[in-house]
Amino acid sequence: MSATMALADRHKAAVPRGISTKTLYAARAQNAELWDIEGKRYIDFAAGIAVLNTGHRHPAVMAAVAQQTEAFTHTCFNVAPYETYIRLAERLNAAAPGDFAKKTMFVTTGAEAVENAVKVARRFTGRSAIIAFGGGFHGRTMMTMALTGKVSPYKKGFGPFPAEVYHAPFPKKSHGIDTAKALEGLRQIFLNDVEPARVAAIIVEPVQGEGGFNIAPFEFLQELRAICDEHGILLIADEIQTGIARTGRMFAIQHADVVPDLITMAKGLGGGFPLSAVTGRAEIMDAADPGGLGGTYAGSPIGLAAANAVLDVIESEDLCARATEIGTRMRNRFEELARRNSFSCIGDVRNLGAMVAVEFVKDRDSRKPDADIVTALIANAQDKGLILLSCGVDANIVRLLAPLTIPMEQVDEGLDIFEAALTEVVGKRQ
Ligand code: PMP
Repeated sequence: MSATMALADRHKAAVPRGISTKTLYAARAQNAELWDIEGKRYIDFAAGIAVLNTGHRHPAVMAAVAQQTEAFTHTCFNVAPYETYIRLAERLNAAAPGDFAKKTMFVTTGAEAVENAVKVARRFTGRSAIIAFGGGFHGRTMMTMALTGKVSPYKKGFGPFPAEVYHAPFPKKSHGIDTAKALEGLRQIFLNDVEPARVAAIIVEPVQGEGGFNIAPFEFLQELRAICDEHGILLIADEIQTGIARTGRMFAIQHADVVPDLITMAKGLGGGFPLSAVTGRAEIMDAADPGGLGGTYAGSPIGLAAANAVLDVIESEDLCARATEIGTRMRNRFEELARRNSFSCIGDVRNLGAMVAVEFVKDRDSRKPDADIVTALIANAQDKGLILLSCGVDANIVRLLAPLTIPMEQVDEGLDIFEAALTEVVGKRQ
């Protein structure tokens, strides 16, 4: 029995099936490469789900963490605060869009950042309702499950959820929902469900991550800003997947020239160490009473040391420019594949920087989603040494999230494997 099969047996016996995983077990990783316990090498186009924008074990991140572990690993910020927390807050306040005073708080996971954004939005506005979007994903805690716009598997059987959460349609060209239709959906919520004066916040992913790499039209985000301004509603940009240089800007919403009131971030921020943040207008962030925010591990010194190094690396290696370069390289290659008759299963290729999606359909006329081909492609690519992820409410999208530090030869190597794997999968079907 292989080491992988033996571990898979123990895994199955010891870990609940609700945590779904791939079938490779990590042994070590460096930058955009990962080796499993069999010694097999993979190109990593998943980056731990958009966490490793600076790659696995970036030397600057590892050095900062090593230095921090020599000093202290945990004090609890409430008990004995530290400079690195304040420094990172200052840097994120400066990096976030908006020409006004900002403040930042740190927690540990993406869901926790969203929870806290909702808390401060409610406390500041004195209102309770939150509007989110169909197909959106905001986490697996009770409030973030309520905000998430996809039932299976994220919400199935886990309710009841916190009340006063409403879902508007997200603009999705491939589903015939343009900006006007999506805004009409929002208007219907104001007519049918809740008056705008009771809405604390609208939370939106500038590019839906789990929901299928759906890029919000910039005018849609601008309209949301205008609606929020008209009704005193706060705009929360959930940049947990899109942020930290992934799309070619520090935050994806900057592409649309929209200034949100609050931004949630996590994933890429800690460069592989758990850390999340909420950055926002100072007066909103200050609304909660002392003791109302925080947590034992909130703003871990290790995560903060890593994140301060991540911001240095984004600057020194110009990772925003690299995101654009990687995204363009991938998109060109996928568009070239999509032009071939044999790959009429490719229904759409889209990207915002290095958030790249290839959408698979049964045929281009019906545009019916094809999840089977995605499952087969991802399995075949894994056999050939490439780690890919799917996404989308219909699970018919392959998402590419390579580290922004990946050498271009490895981008090409990964794309070659993608093409070879897809050629085989399509060949087997004919
Ligand atoms: N918001 C978005 C946009 C996300 O992509 C995710 C994670 N995929 C989350 C929130 C939740 O983050 P976490 O898993 O760290 O709780």
